[in-house]
Amino acid sequence: MNTINLQPIGVVHSVNSNSMKVPLQGGDAVIELLPQYEGALERIEENSHVWILSWFHEARRDVLTRAPTRVNPDAPSYGVFALRTPARPNPIALTLVALDRIEGNCLYVSGLDALDGTSVLDIKPYYEQDIVFSPRTSKITASIREMRKAFMEKEAIRHHRENCDDMRLAVRMALIAEEQFGKLNDDEILVEVNGSNCLGDTLQGISRARLANPPRFKFRHSADVMKSTWVKGNKSVCLELRDKADLAISEDLADEVLFRIETVINQ
Ligand SMILES: [Zn+2]
Repeated sequence: MNTINLQPIGVVHSVNSNSMKVPLQGGDAVIELLPQYEGALERIEENSHVWILSWFHEARRDVLTRAPTRVNPDAPSYGVFALRTPARPNPIALTLVALDRIEGNCLYVSGLDALDGTSVLDIKPYYEQDIVFSPRTSKITASIREMRKAFMEKEAIRHHRENCDDMRLAVRMALIAEEQFGKLNDDEILVEVNGSNCLGDTLQGISRARLANPPRFKFRHSADVMKSTWVKGNKSVCLELRDKADLAISEDLADEVLFRIETVINQ
């Protein structure tokens, strides 16, 4: 077999220097290109998001299966091509990041899960046609709520485009719903939202619930109520914000304090 020779085009600068401490949802980082490649950035600022391909130099290359235990200690094992683990024959990392700004040969990005000093191999723009609105994926759910929340918040911000109070409330509702029903992009889960446009938009984004094909989503605007109802089969869970004043301190409040929760199972 031919050997392929890759030359790094740049390097990652980030506060993360320990691979076990890099947040799985990524963080802020700077990609410094080698000066001879600066010309290849022409007009890249027209893109809000880019794919970063980099090289996980610390990764193992001799394993074909892995259990994603960092996400969930009870997860079964998967082939490395069915996961995004760094361990793989060619440890090329692929990460979608938001391109925040460019200064000279430096790209300031957010959402990059790479260590400080990681070699960057390539940068490509993210296109609208890359979107698959509701893909089927392995059901690997993080065992810790904080981690599930961090993943969900990342998804919510990408969809809703602002980190507002109502978006965070929607994430909190969706977390509870996911604990009750499993993955929320399930075609059999119906979602009904009564509340602000931001609440409705975020919950539609997280649940991928469409108005049709199949019809899963209903929305009614209300200035007074913040409520979502989730139905699958004979079970329904209704979550209603008790007091709007709680929004600002919602992180510290238990689910039952923040919401009036009503679970109904029809026999
Ligand atoms: Zn909003």
